[in-house]
Amino acid sequence: MSVLSCAHVHTPFCDGKTPAPDMARAAWEKGFISLGFSSHAPQDFDPGSCIPPDQEENYKAQIRALQAQYAGRMAVYLGIERDYYACVSPADYDYYIASVHYLPLAGEYVAIDGSPADFCRRIDEDCGGDALLLARRYFDLLREYVVRARPPIIGHFDLLRKNNARSPRLDEESPSYRALALDALAAMKDTGAFLEVNTGGMARGVLRSPYPQAFLLSAWRQWGGEVIINSDCHDVRFLDAYFDDAEALLRALGYDHAVRLGRGQMWERYAL
Ligand SMILES: [Zn+2]
Ligand SMILES: [Zn+2]
Repeated sequence: MSVLSCAHVHTPFCDGKTPAPDMARAAWEKGFISLGFSSHAPQDFDPGSCIPPDQEENYKAQIRALQAQYAGRMAVYLGIERDYYACVSPADYDYYIASVHYLPLAGEYVAIDGSPADFCRRIDEDCGGDALLLARRYFDLLREYVVRARPPIIGHFDLLRKNNARSPRLDEESPSYRALALDALAAMKDTGAFLEVNTGGMARGVLRSPYPQAFLLSAWRQWGGEVIINSDCHDVRFLDAYFDDAEALLRALGYDHAVRLGRGQMWERYAL
């Protein structure tokens, strides 16, 4: 295992379970060279799952303190996972992960990776039973976000697979779905963003492969895109869960390197 880093780590400031100091200690004990915290950025809806706006400064202070504490031993970075509908600027952070979790549904923002019941309700009531229409809406939003903002990292590209695994509605092997996803990814290939290989769905026991699907990772490599392996860690037990599988998958697809948070520079390549 050569990743020895993770740039997608949550904390109890949002919906993470492990306090940041405990996460940093575990990373250090595993021999990590770097660790990036990325709690969900403040947003003005679904308050239980993001950093409360009045806690944003405390979150920054805690991560900056860890940065100082581990200086010279492990590089610690202050990031956020910024949803499409989040309300803060990422300018105060070392980096951010651009993600789409929420889509409007019946006048409110409902997470696409929330309950399977909401996933089905959205398809039935909002998309006329057409799961492909939901996929189109999701990818349209993510595409618009990434092309406009040119983020450092594209978070869990095909997140809708999570609930589709629990309540299958969409044929992920169908040519129409694949064309849709591939078209969205193609639009992002010149943004310079790193495509996240996210093992979070595997750690939760929902998926048997990371986000995104292999055919997307394969195309990304052919376009010369860079990838970053992350666990989307909410619980320290899964800090590097399935990293070996992610690396093996990337190697099988022809990747010879990936990107991680660096020690001297912000991002560094390492051999797979
Ligand atoms: Zn996310
Ligand atoms: Zn996350």
